[in-house]
Amino acid sequence: MTHPTPLPTAIIGAGLAGLAAALALSAHGLPVTLFDAGTAPGGRLSTHRAGGWRFDHGGQFLTVRDAGFRDVMGELVGDGHAAPWMGHVVRLSADGSVQPHVVERFVGLPGMDGIIRGLIARLPEAARPRFGSRVTAVTGTPGHWHLALADDAQEGPFTRVVIAVPAPLAARLLSLVAPALATRAAQAVMAPCRALMLGYGAAVLPPWDAAFLGGAGAEDRPLSWIAHDGGKPGRDGRAGFIAHAAPAWSERHREDTDDAVITTLLPAFRAATGITAEPAFLALHHWPHALPTAPLSDGYLWDAPLGLGACGDWCLEARAEAAFVSGARLAAAMGA
Ligand SMILES: Cc1cc2nc3c(=O)[nH]c(=O)nc-3n(C[C@H](O)[C@H](O)[C@H](O)COP(=O)(O)OP(=O)(O)OC[C@H]3O[C@@H](n4cnc5c(N)ncnc54)[C@H](O)[C@@H]3O)c2cc1C
Repeated sequence: MTHPTPLPTAIIGAGLAGLAAALALSAHGLPVTLFDAGTAPGGRLSTHRAGGWRFDHGGQFLTVRDAGFRDVMGELVGDGHAAPWMGHVVRLSADGSVQPHVVERFVGLPGMDGIIRGLIARLPEAARPRFGSRVTAVTGTPGHWHLALADDAQEGPFTRVVIAVPAPLAARLLSLVAPALATRAAQAVMAPCRALMLGYGAAVLPPWDAAFLGGAGAEDRPLSWIAHDGGKPGRDGRAGFIAHAAPAWSERHREDTDDAVITTLLPAFRAATGITAEPAFLALHHWPHALPTAPLSDGYLWDAPLGLGACGDWCLEARAEAAFVSGARLAAAMGA
């Protein structure tokens, strides 16, 4: 007698966390169906292409501490989806002092989304994400879950559902079917980030590749990070910069118009870099849930009787690696 093919597990979100879960479950022969609202791979490791420039407007680089993730990163470097970044990164204090900030860092190739694309390439064809698929609700009963999509399509049934989206969105999707998990997800605090992208035909570069803007008085400074994206490995060298507003500043100015935000961030960028020329390209991106400022310590959320769980950086730590580790740990709890 042949066994019926098991129903797949649905994974909502194809960022690092969802992909880590998908890779582990697939490696154990468990079928998965992956949905992502985005039009292209990346999540918070997206790359924005505009005006001939390429901007890493979300996650800037990855640091690696977990042995399993180091192996994955080694494979991504080996097949050309990532590279070590040996850029000159500094800490710029408000008093003008400059300190080197030396840590092992990795970036995606040719943009940060290369990391996500490299992970997707490791999945079996049938498990690759369906982009442009925004899930609006989880319905059904344990063992027979369905997903409602924004285009009114219904998907399912699924035995189990993994929700791998930022905490406030996860709390919303869990609220009707797993209120206890929803309450826990809602306890993770995530700060927004305004990201300024600046492209120059030619610019005099600052004497560093990237800078943290920290030190005394940092809480009042609008910017927390500036990077010359064009100088990262595998880029074309064009003078494209990213400047991230600090989490506290972004929170205070969450409702400000783009024009009002640019009016503050552009002078701060000029003061820090010394680049006073008008940018040939200027755009602002709003990340409503950029980084967990108060993550949970759970590692992941999982209700085995319901077959519902959630993962992401917000379950562990405000670093991209934590998203991957969270997804891998949830998959292990699910039997992978
Ligand atoms: C501005 C910024 C700077 C950062 N800098 C760094 C850094 O330098 N170093 C570092 O280590 N980390 C950094 N991070 C954090 C890092 O990017 C994240 O920790 C990591 O990418 C999170 O991965 P994730 O899979 O948990 O979530 P995400 O990457 O957010 O993935 C979630 C996915 O779910 C999808 N989705 C959302 N809602 C739905 C829905 N309803 N239906 C279907 N799909 C949905 C999204 O499209 C997305 O692809 C930064 C993040 C930001 C925003």
